[in-house]
Formats: sequence, C-alpha cells, structure tokens
Amino acid sequence: MAEHGRQHVRVAVIGSGFGGLGAAVRLRREGITDFVVLERADSVGGTWRDNTYPGCACDVPSHLYSFSFAPNPAWPRSFSGQPHIRAYLEHVTDTFGLRPHLRFNSEVQQLRWDPEALHWEVVTAAGDYTADVVVSATGPLSDPRIPDVPGLDSFPGKVFHSSRWDHDYDLRGKRVAMIGTGASAIQIVPAVQPEAGRLTLFQRTPPWVLPRFDRPVSAAERYLHTRLPATAALRRGVLWGIRELQVSNFTKRPERMRLVEKLSLTHLRRAVADPALRARLTPDYRIGCKRILLSNDYYPALTRPNVDLVSAGLTAIRGSTLVAADGTETEADAIVFGTGFRVTDMPIGERVTGADGRTLAEHWKGGMAALRGASAAGFPNLLFVIGPNTGLGNSSMILIIESQLNYLADFMRQLDTLGGKAALDARPSAVNAWNRGLQRRMERTVWNAGCQSWYLDEHGRNTVVWPGTTAEFRRVTRRVDLAEYQVLRPPRAPRRAVPAAATEAAR
Ligand SMILES: Cc1cc2nc3c(=O)[nH]c(=O)nc-3n(C[C@H](O)[C@H](O)[C@H](O)COP(=O)(O)OP(=O)(O)OC[C@H]3O[C@@H](n4cnc5c(N)ncnc54)[C@H](O)[C@@H]3O)c2cc1C
Repeated sequence: MAEHGRQHVRVAVIGSGFGGLGAAVRLRREGITDFVVLERADSVGGTWRDNTYPGCACDVPSHLYSFSFAPNPAWPRSFSGQPHIRAYLEHVTDTFGLRPHLRFNSEVQQLRWDPEALHWEVVTAAGDYTADVVVSATGPLSDPRIPDVPGLDSFPGKVFHSSRWDHDYDLRGKRVAMIGTGASAIQIVPAVQPEAGRLTLFQRTPPWVLPRFDRPVSAAERYLHTRLPATAALRRGVLWGIRELQVSNFTKRPERMRLVEKLSLTHLRRAVADPALRARLTPDYRIGCKRILLSNDYYPALTRPNVDLVSAGLTAIRGSTLVAADGTETEADAIVFGTGFRVTDMPIGERVTGADGRTLAEHWKGGMAALRGASAAGFPNLLFVIGPNTGLGNSSMILIIESQLNYLADFMRQLDTLGGKAALDARPSAVNAWNRGLQRRMERTVWNAGCQSWYLDEHGRNTVVWPGTTAEFRRVTRRVDLAEYQVLRPPRAPRRAVPAAATEAAR
C-alpha cells in the first residue's frame, strides 16, 4: 500500500547479515510476508560480505556458527573461511525465498516515529517507506573505526581498514604497517607476512592467544551429517555445551581463568624462542578481559625475519614515517587499520528519532541500554537484533540472534492479540531495572577486571557483553512481558464543533 508516495509495510528490517536474514526467515515462518529488508550494500552477507581480508574466517566452529534451522553438512573446515560463510548466507537467502523482500542500495538515512499514525517513517537512499514495526539488525561490527591519527591525511601511501580490503592493491614487496592486534589483525598478519617486503605490527596491548583446533571436515563426516542429520545436531550440541560450561569462569570466577592463561603461555613459549620477544607478547591482564584469540600461525609469523613488532600504539604520521608512542619511527608504503568497529556508539542511533523528538544517540549519551537487548524506551515498535549487552565472549552470536528472533516473533503476536492499531513502548522503569541488574552482574565479570577493551564505552561501562549463558538469554527472551511495555493507541480525533449557523439551519 502506498501512502503519500511511500510504500507502507508491516515490518522494515534493516540489514541483511545473519541478523536481518534470520529476522526475514522468522517473519515468514510467522506468516508475515508484508516486509522489506533494507540493505545499504548490493548483496547479502553483512560481516561476511564486507570482510574479505586474507585469512578471514570465523573463530567459533562453523557447526555452531550457523543457523539451527539451516544446518550445513557441507562445511569444509571446522572453522570455515569467509567465502564459505558468505556462500552459506546466499544459500539461506534462496532456500527460504527471501529475495523478493530484499531492497539493496537502500541505506536507511532517517527513521522517525510518528506518534499520531503510530508508525515509523523510513527514509532510505532508494525511496521512502512507512512501517508499523522496524527491526534494526545493522550489526555490532559493521562500521569501521579508524583512529584520528595526526598526519594521516598526509600519508602518501595506501590506507585501508581490515573490513574494507583493497584487493587491487598489491602488497607484494611493500612495507606494510598493521595497526592493532585484535581478532582481524591476528588473521591478517600470518596471511600477509609471506608476501610483504616488511611487515611492522603496532601493538598497544598483546592479546591472549590460544591454539586453534582447525582441520578439514572429512568426507566421511560430511556424508554422515548429510545422511544422518542427528549427528550434525549432536556435534552442534557438544560445541554449544562446552562453551556454556565455561561461562561461569567469565562471569563469576575470573580467577579460575589462570589455568587457561597457562595454556596460552605454553602456546607462546612453543612458538617464540626469543625471550625478549616473548616478554613483549605476554599480556599483563586477566585472560578473557579482552576477546580471547585463536591462532596457530600468528606467533610463528612474528618470528619471521621480515616482521617487526612495535610495542606501542601509533601516535602520529609524518609523510611516510609512522611514529609510535615510544618514539619508534617506521617507514611504510601501506597502512592497514585493524582497529575495530563503532560498537558502543551504534551508528544507526544518530538516525533514529523517537517519540519525544530526540535521537536514540541522544538517549544513549550515558550508555546504550535496551530491555532484554531489544527495546529502548521512547522508541515504540523498534526492536534490535544484537542490541546492547547481547555480545558473547566465548560462543556463537547466532545463538543470541535466534533468541532475539523468538522475542521478535512474540512481539508480533502480542501486537496481533492487541488488535487494531497499536504500538508497544518499553517502560523506562523496565529498561532501567533490566539494565541495573545487568550492570550489577557485570561487576564480578572478567570483562570488568581492569583492562581496556572494545566492550567498554567512554564511561567505562560494559554495554556490549551479555553476562550469562546463552541458555539464560534464550529463557529471558522467549516471551514479551506486556507489563514491561506501555500499549500506545492512536490519539482520538478531537470532536469537531458544529458551527452555530449549521445548527440553526438543521432545526
Ligand atoms: C571478521 C569478523 C569475524 C567474526 N567472527 C565471528 C565468529 O566467529 N563468531 C561469532 O559469533 N561472531 C563473529 N563475528 C561477529 C559478527 O559480526 C556476528 O557474528 C554477526 O555476523 C553479526 O550479524 P549482523 O547481521 O548482526 O550484522 P552484520 O553482519 O554486520 O550485518 C549488518 C548489515 O546491516 C547493514 N547496514 C548497516 N547500517 C545500515 C543502514 N543504515 N541502512 C541499511 N543497511 C545497513 C550492513 O551493510 C550489513 O549488511 C565476527 C565479526 C567479524 C567482523
């Protein structure tokens, strides 16, 4: 239905990564077909479309890092690479008939709540919509963060972020500076080292690294998973269970992580013989405080003769010279930023205007907060997939996404049950109570053990991680509790006064 030249839809989903595609499948399963998926790029895949850097792969085993409703018996490796995960998402799109709903090159520029009409006005780069409900699945690791290094503009060489890899630029023989030591950087370093002339890694903080038990999935396993799907489900169950058992170490007893630290230090010792280099690669904070990384080839790559480690952050650039905080100067032809994403200041927040005329970013100035990771007060009928405090330190985000889709499905059912035109707005008291509970639990966790990480916002609050098991998250997002919401109805049209002359004439 078109209204003032805008198409009206029941639901507008933003983003076509695991979150947006999962929402689309779930809506269809709920019998809802009046929806669009608005995607700024020209294909599906999100994270797995954008990150094409050499060595890019998942760090949670593929049989767990995939939808429970779309098992893939053909995963080639236990930790599959980016091309296979992207192909999987394309396959999900076709299998579940999602193509007719996709709107590519449709970046959402504005979302404005209309309190009279009880719907969202959605302005995109390719036309406007109104929608009863909006599902925001714009991704926690979607918008690159490049630090504002003085002199960067004057750098004469090539500059790009890990998630925007320039495949036309040939790194062979070049002096490459890799900035950062996060999950992407430790995959890039061993992949680029053999071809780079010189590779300099700028490390502000050394990560904890554990062995990666990656191997090809054998033809026999694949055959078994295809012929007997229960075996694939069992495999997934075991992978899930192992990670659930680890959660209490992260959330309640960080001191128990010492044993894991020993494992990591052994891993380092086996790979790096030079005690001076080993010392510079040894973290001085509790393991798990930052994301634990998995790699078998990162440490060996750092021992190669064409690699230098600078144990300080990049602070300035003068022409082609990179200056580190410890004064080290490095000449480079190319800079690769592995400096992460805008996580704690969700970029879509600046584009969403709520019931009181303020943006979500303004509401979240003191820190992101959403009821059950899904609903922010004052933003009716807007649900997040991977909202605040839904991230995981040790397991598959797909488990969280599927729980949030259960919540979405129940949200849609509740709206149906209410009947007529209605909207649900999270009560501020419910959001605050939820958030207070989370932050109280957060105090005991390893993520608040004193390190600097991308889980913490500018106020030092962890607004990113879920401080519990995925089973608990599933339980608390199974149903929408209407007591936590205000039911909004359209304002009644004021009765029109009948002009006196008309009343006289009628007599
Ligand atoms: C390199 C890398 C490896 C990872 N590995 C793992 C792993 O092993 N295990 C794990 O659990 N997690 C991993 N993650 C986290 C990963 O981001 C999530 O698991 C998951 O893919 C997120 O899906 P999503 O749909 O929420 O977000 P995304 O995949 O980021 O998709 C968001 C989509 O929204 C679109 N979008 C954003 N803003 C707008 C807008 N304004 N208008 C229209 N479209 C918009 C984007 O273009 C994108 O397509 C990894 C992340 C990265 C970057």
